[in-house]
Amino acid sequence: SIRAPAAKKTTTLTVAVKCRPLTERERGRDIVRVIDNKEVVVLDPDLSKDYLVRIQNRTKEKKYCFDHAFGPNRTNVDVYKKCISSVIAGVVQGLNATVFAYGSTGSGKTYTMVGTRDDPGLMVLSLHTIFDLIKSNKSSDEFEVTCSYLEVYNEVIYDLLEKSSGHLELREDPEQGIIVAGLRCIKVHSADKILELLNLGNGRRKTESTEVNATSSRSHAVLEITVKRKQRNKYRNQVLRGKLALVDLAGSERASETNSGGQKLRDGANINRSLLALANCINALGKQQKKGLAYVPYRNSKLTRILKDGLSGNSQTVMVATVSPEDSQYHHTVNTLKYADRAK
Ligand code: ADP
Ligand code: MG
Repeated sequence: SIRAPAAKKTTTLTVAVKCRPLTERERGRDIVRVIDNKEVVVLDPDLSKDYLVRIQNRTKEKKYCFDHAFGPNRTNVDVYKKCISSVIAGVVQGLNATVFAYGSTGSGKTYTMVGTRDDPGLMVLSLHTIFDLIKSNKSSDEFEVTCSYLEVYNEVIYDLLEKSSGHLELREDPEQGIIVAGLRCIKVHSADKILELLNLGNGRRKTESTEVNATSSRSHAVLEITVKRKQRNKYRNQVLRGKLALVDLAGSERASETNSGGQKLRDGANINRSLLALANCINALGKQQKKGLAYVPYRNSKLTRILKDGLSGNSQTVMVATVSPEDSQYHHTVNTLKYADRAK
C-alpha cells in the first residue's frame, strides 16, 4: 500500500523574485530606459540583511521584501541552490512539493524552469539532484522515478509527451487521489535526456499570437516527477511516494490588456481563472503558515486540482516570481511583485 509519512501537516511557502538580464535586442534600446527612468533593483543579499526588491520611477519608490531575490547576473543554479535543493531531499523521503514560475510573458519563466544547455533550469537541476540522492543512498530501498508533462490550456488538459494529445480528464482515484486519466507517465533512469524531452514538449504547447507577444504562451505547463521508494525491513514492506510538480505558468498579463477578442479573450479569461484560483490557494497557504490551519480552495480550477497534493498538507511550495528589467514592462513588474507580496 502507498502511504505518506505523517510528520508534517502544513505546507511551507517560500517566495523568491528573479529579475532577468536585458536581452541583446533590448540593450539596443537603452535610451528608452533612461528617458522613463523606471527601474527594478534587486539589492545584493550580501549587502542587505533582508532580501529586497526596489522599484522606482520618477515620482515614487517602493520596496518589497521576499525570502530570496536574484538579480540579472544570477544563474538558475543560484536560484536552485537557495530555494529548491532542500525541497528535493524531502521528495526523495516521500514528501510532496510544488515549484512554480509566475510572471508576465517574456519575463523569464521558461528560462527559469527549463533553461538552456549552458544554464539548465529548475526542472533539469531537480531531476539531477534526485538521481544523485538515489545513487548515494546507502539503504537497501528500491527507487523508481517517473515523469509526466502536461499543459492546461483553456481549462483543458493535454499531454505534452504525446505527439497529438486529445483532451484528458481528471479523475478521483481512491488510492492515488486526483489523477489525469490516460496521461503518459515515463520511467526515467537518469537526468540526461530530460532537457530534450522538455524542449520537445514545449514545442507542442499551444501558443496564440496576441498583440502583447507573437509567441506568448497561453498555457500552464506542469512537469510532475514522482519518486516511489520501496522500503524493506524485518516487519513490513512500505512504499513512500514523493511528488514534485514544477510549473511554468501562462503569462500573467491580463486579458483586458491584450486587446483581442473572441477565442483569445476566452483564453485569457480561463488563464485568469486558473491564476486567480492559484492566487487564492497561495493566500490560504500563507495564512496557514501564520495562523495555523486554513482551508485551501484547490477545487476552483483544473490547475489547482492537478496541484492539490502539493498545495495541501505535507508539502512545500516555492514560488519564483520572474520580472523583466525593461521599463516597458514596468507595470507588469509592479503587478507581479504585488501578487508575490500577497502570497507572503
Ligand atoms: P517567459 O517564459 O516568461 O515568456 P522566457 O523564459 O521565454 O520568458 O524569456 C524571455 C527572453 O528572455 C528569452 O529570450 C530568454 O532567453 C531571455 N531570458 C530570460 N531569462 C534569462 C536569463 N536569466 N538569462 C539570459 N536570458 C534570459
Ligand atoms: Mg515561456
